[in-house]
Amino acid sequence: MRKSLYAMNLDEIMEELNLEKKFQARIVRDNLVKGITDFSQMTSLSKKDRERLRWDAMTTSIVEKQESLSAVKLAIRLQDGLVVECVRLSDGKDRHTACLSSQVGCAMGCAFCKTGTMGLKRNLDSGEIIEQFVHLEKLGEKISHIVFMGMGEPLNNFGPLMEAIHILHDREQFDISYRKITISTSGFVPGIHKLSELELPIKLAVSLVTADDAKRSRIMRINRTYPLSELKKALISFQRRENKRITLEYCMLKGYNTGAEDAEKLKKFMSGMDALVNLIPWNPVEGMSFESPSDDEIRAFTNELKRLGINYSIRRSKGRDISGACGQLASKNE
Ligand code: SAH
Ligand code: SF4
Repeated sequence: MRKSLYAMNLDEIMEELNLEKKFQARIVRDNLVKGITDFSQMTSLSKKDRERLRWDAMTTSIVEKQESLSAVKLAIRLQDGLVVECVRLSDGKDRHTACLSSQVGCAMGCAFCKTGTMGLKRNLDSGEIIEQFVHLEKLGEKISHIVFMGMGEPLNNFGPLMEAIHILHDREQFDISYRKITISTSGFVPGIHKLSELELPIKLAVSLVTADDAKRSRIMRINRTYPLSELKKALISFQRRENKRITLEYCMLKGYNTGAEDAEKLKKFMSGMDALVNLIPWNPVEGMSFESPSDDEIRAFTNELKRLGINYSIRRSKGRDISGACGQLASKNE
């Protein structure tokens, strides 16, 4: 497989493209960052180089595009034929968020998530992660935020994930501040510790789903290895270093995690940490026996949260109609 130019430093670009001078590599890189991937369009390159480099810099391509009012979902084909998905979510103003995948499929197998049904096909490399961002930005709007909430468990692909983030953050490249980057994890404790050690102001979101150990273990295998007590310790130590509010994603499953007792347990789990609960009514996945909670059920639960003084928000699932919403990403790979 060809390595993406997006994952290369200037020396590597020089060598890959047989360029003589570093400034030429810089020209190429500046163009790539702007989404100009066809060398013949890189007007500040010499004519000779433009004529010599008759290929497109991308290693990946869009195979499908689906649009709704506030979301665009792209299916991206990788060099080995596998397909990943990424989504651009827009708020109607100037906030455009890229939701990126970190793996093809996912090994975690959470019972409510479509990606989990695929199993893990493979990790993405840093170039494949960055190219998703580039495809999304080429749609025409400047991307302001990044969330790793697409396919895969990002902290299980730590090295390539951090390489990609480094490049997306680099002021000379994509210049996205760490504060606008969120990593969502199902609770892979060693990965949370590794992330804390880097001491970067990246935001952390955790798919809590329920604060009841037995219930969580039943639907999230990861909880059998890293139960809530360990997860909580890891979150508190992350917070001690970064002092950043943590998001607890709470996928609401009808009749499973929305009772008064569930709210009490959530309250207890949150004691000692600064966290916001992000409620996500379950997005239907064909063949799964869960159901989305009714509006009444959601209201009853949020009333409990209010009573207990828990900060929460409800995620309006943008892109539900194009299966671009949380947990609905999966690809029909060959
Ligand atoms: N693997 C990471 C990131 C991707 S999942 C993680 O689990 O955090 C992104 C979010 O979608 C998670 O919060 C997950 O709990 C949620 N999710 C998964 N399936 C869902 C579904 N069918 N409906 C609503 N949210 C879902
Ligand atoms: Fe993987 Fe996250 Fe889906 Fe669980 S919720 S299967 S960790 S993508």
